[in-house]
Amino acid sequence: MLIVMHHYATADEIEAVQAAVVALGYRSEPIPGKERTAIGVLGNQGYVPDDTILELPGVLEVIHVSKPYKLVSRDFHPVASEVRIGSVSLGEGLPPVVMAGPCSIESEEQILAAAHLVKTAGAHILRGGAFKPRTGPHTFQGLGVEGLRYLRAAGDEVEMPVVTEVMRISQLEAVCRYADMVQIGARNMQNFELLKEVGKLDLPVLLKRGMSATLEEFLAAAEYILAEGNSRVVLCERGIRTFETATRNTLDLAIVPLVRELSHLPIVVDPSHATGKRSLVPVMSKAALVAGAHGLMVEVHPAPETALCDGAQSLTGQGFAQLMGQLRQMLPVLDIS
Ligand code: PEP
Ligand code: MN
Repeated sequence: MLIVMHHYATADEIEAVQAAVVALGYRSEPIPGKERTAIGVLGNQGYVPDDTILELPGVLEVIHVSKPYKLVSRDFHPVASEVRIGSVSLGEGLPPVVMAGPCSIESEEQILAAAHLVKTAGAHILRGGAFKPRTGPHTFQGLGVEGLRYLRAAGDEVEMPVVTEVMRISQLEAVCRYADMVQIGARNMQNFELLKEVGKLDLPVLLKRGMSATLEEFLAAAEYILAEGNSRVVLCERGIRTFETATRNTLDLAIVPLVRELSHLPIVVDPSHATGKRSLVPVMSKAALVAGAHGLMVEVHPAPETALCDGAQSLTGQGFAQLMGQLRQMLPVLDIS
């Protein structure tokens, strides 16, 4: 529920409405606007009597928000959020942020080589998985904490913040020790206990869309994180499962401008997992930026043919450098507003 105050409502009246909301057993969140203040009513204990609220001095109207997400929505937070990851800022009005690196950290040498390649090409954040959610149990599962150490060292060496996936609450402490941003993968988008735990962190979170999640479910998942107090969330569209099998997933690019309408959170696109094919990554990266993505997550491997994971969708260092050159040329025509 949103309580909209008259433009002439006084600070005392706004405070009184907030106190009334709290007295009814809800949390209140003031949303100052250009013309008037609104008060968000949070909590799901039941029914808030409209009449009681409408009678309070200064109240203009009461709007029921039936969406399962509120903190994430533009209604509650009209100003777009900027998320800082180490020294990098990501969000509306800023040049797109590129996160790049291998699917998984395979060795100290491999992640260091990848770090140098992506840094030289102009990427902003280094990615690499240490805990890998693989489809089958007989494939490479990641180096675990050893991988985290290599990732951190590589990030430090090239002076880039690092992002890596956490799959379970028990891995969170180690991941937080080494990472600048915590990634929740597609397969864990609705792991609500994990979402609640990352909601307690003082670290930015990259939340990837579940492969069969609707937009509403995606935003509701982000709401779990914000509801615990962490509003440093970046959404990531990474393709969804459809009847089409020619690409690994179907990149749902229309979701990008729609998320920007519905939410204040920034959104990036992962064209690597969305397509599964190296040849499609550059063009879909460009399409993502045209659609309004605030950044990209791209898999890059120093020798994709030897990659232990996702080699077919990984760009070579040269391919990535070429893509970054093309993205730079696009900057002046992008609507970064
Ligand atoms: C990844 O980014 O390493 C990954 C596993 O992606 P997703 O969760 O989108 O499948
Ligand atoms: Mn991958």
